[in-house]
Amino acid sequence: MDRETLEFDVVFVGAGPANLSSAFHLTQLVKKYNQEISIGSRKGDPLPDIEIAVIEKGATVGAHILSGAVMDPKALKELMPDFIEQGAPLESPVKEDSFLYLTSKYAIKSPITPPPLKNHGYYIVSLNRLTAWLGEKCEEVGVNIFPEFPGADLLYDDQDRVLGVRTGDKGIDKEGKRKANYEPGVDLRAKVTVLGEGPRGSLTKQLVQRLGLDEGREPQVYSIGVKELWELPDDRYPAGRVTHTLGFPSDTQTYGGGWIYGMQNNIINIGYVTGLDYKDPLLDPHSEFQRYKTHPFIAKLLEGGKMIRYGAKTIAAGGYFAMPKTYADGVLLVGDCAGFLNSQRLKGIHSAIKSGMLAAEAVFEALLAKDFSAKQLQRYEQIVNDSWIIPELKKVRNFHAGFKHGRWLGIVNTGLQFFTGGRAWGLFDRDRATPGHEEMKKLSAYGYHGDNLEQRYTGFRFDGKLTFNKVTDVYHAAVGHDEDQPVHLHVLDTDICSTRCAEEYGNPCQRFCPAAVYEMVDDGGDGRRRLQINFSNCVHCKTCDIMDPYQIINWVTPEGGGGPDYKGM
Ligand SMILES: Cc1cc2nc3c(=O)[nH]c(=O)nc-3n(C[C@H](O)[C@H](O)[C@H](O)COP(=O)(O)OP(=O)(O)OC[C@H]3O[C@@H](n4cnc5c(N)ncnc54)[C@H](O)[C@@H]3O)c2cc1C
Repeated sequence: MDRETLEFDVVFVGAGPANLSSAFHLTQLVKKYNQEISIGSRKGDPLPDIEIAVIEKGATVGAHILSGAVMDPKALKELMPDFIEQGAPLESPVKEDSFLYLTSKYAIKSPITPPPLKNHGYYIVSLNRLTAWLGEKCEEVGVNIFPEFPGADLLYDDQDRVLGVRTGDKGIDKEGKRKANYEPGVDLRAKVTVLGEGPRGSLTKQLVQRLGLDEGREPQVYSIGVKELWELPDDRYPAGRVTHTLGFPSDTQTYGGGWIYGMQNNIINIGYVTGLDYKDPLLDPHSEFQRYKTHPFIAKLLEGGKMIRYGAKTIAAGGYFAMPKTYADGVLLVGDCAGFLNSQRLKGIHSAIKSGMLAAEAVFEALLAKDFSAKQLQRYEQIVNDSWIIPELKKVRNFHAGFKHGRWLGIVNTGLQFFTGGRAWGLFDRDRATPGHEEMKKLSAYGYHGDNLEQRYTGFRFDGKLTFNKVTDVYHAAVGHDEDQPVHLHVLDTDICSTRCAEEYGNPCQRFCPAAVYEMVDDGGDGRRRLQINFSNCVHCKTCDIMDPYQIINWVTPEGGGGPDYKGM
């Protein structure tokens, strides 16, 4: 097969805020260095023009970007001090903050907003729009961006040094045969490959396993955020208003909380986070969010409004103890795939941008030294440690672990950490950290039989006005995949689905997937049900890869351009 090979200095996988900031910053560092050489204020040889490629699996930059989002602007200010003048799309500065505890009937407003949820000086943004804008800024300074190019495999030499990335083939049918439009993926070779794939990156997962980058670290734990945009009939919830909630509908053993952010044009952005270390096998994060909206306070807020967009995505919540080693020969990890998100604040945009900038600085030094080995790239870890990223994460290093013992002890631990600077003892000690999927209990532990959701969501119905089923919601995520391609959700042993998983957990994939991808259907024969994968619904959230109790689901990139289109999210 003729596979094209293209040579770059640096290839960035994923056009998220981390990688785009990195690519942009790198061009600025090289430009400044060459200017200083040319005017004689610095000694050395000028660097030749560097070739940078950013590949993105979505159809456009931003198409797969879903966030809250309230952005702490400190990193963006460092990247581009005049970001406002440069036209950064900001919905609104945060004007008011509140924190509510929801019982099933009441919304109790906290007299003070807990410090981690204070957002004064921050901005409400659509991260989809902000990312698309960052992409434009990158192109203005000569970065090559290739949407519709998923990174399918990393290229290694015989000593496991990363040499670049192979993009996915196009035009393969569902049987694995070449179609008329077949195009083999391209080998993009680079001195350094920077992975900024977001949470549970598919290449990052391969790399971490292959090189043991998580040795001695805690397993990463995740949450899933499910959200909708609503258009309200009036300005009852103004742009700039931020509300966070705790309580309803999560049970006290499940980590969860909600948010409501006011955007422009009477649009509100409402969502709910559920920890992917929940115990109840019948829990369904999409249903948790739908129930959230039935709370009298929220239902009243949404009255007369119209749901216009939907999406879901995972969040890497493990923090400081769960960060893998972020460098190896020829490769760096940035943003969420390196675990830099602060889960106590539910903020990762600032650290994604900052980590991207620091990666650019490490790559720049490597270009000057002409050395792309792990020894040289270790510099990245040093400068991350010296930056504000690590102190911020250290202060909240035991936050998520505290919730392992339920909501109330989690809150006590959060309060204590505030005084101890993040230290925790006894119950809250991280020694007990386990991967989230291992927390899920079997049906028998709850006295459940089969997968009847009524046992958890008794009497709950989607009414099509306030609450929506997954298929309706997926329609509002504008998801598209060519159906004639191989399934990109590799279930390594489907027999388990019909047998052990059905008996032990009632096939929880049907519930944890927020896009109705997994369905157990009658086989018509032996009385067992078999798994049907509606892959074209997939919103690329990666929950299945994370939460499957047997760890037999492997999410790989589908054909480029497929997936959601998160306009305005
Ligand atoms: C529901 C939710 C709410 C959040 N709320 C907030 C908030 O209010 N404030 C805040 O600061 N942070 C928030 N965050 C976190 C924030 O969104 C992330 O920290 C941030 O987006 C991380 O940026 P990133 O560049 O590392 O990754 P991402 O934003 O995930 O971008 C990764 C990009 O890489 C692409 N990609 C992945 N794999 C491949 C591949 N193999 N080949 C090609 N392309 C690939 C993806 O399509 C995507 O475009 C929230 C996150 C979620 C999910």
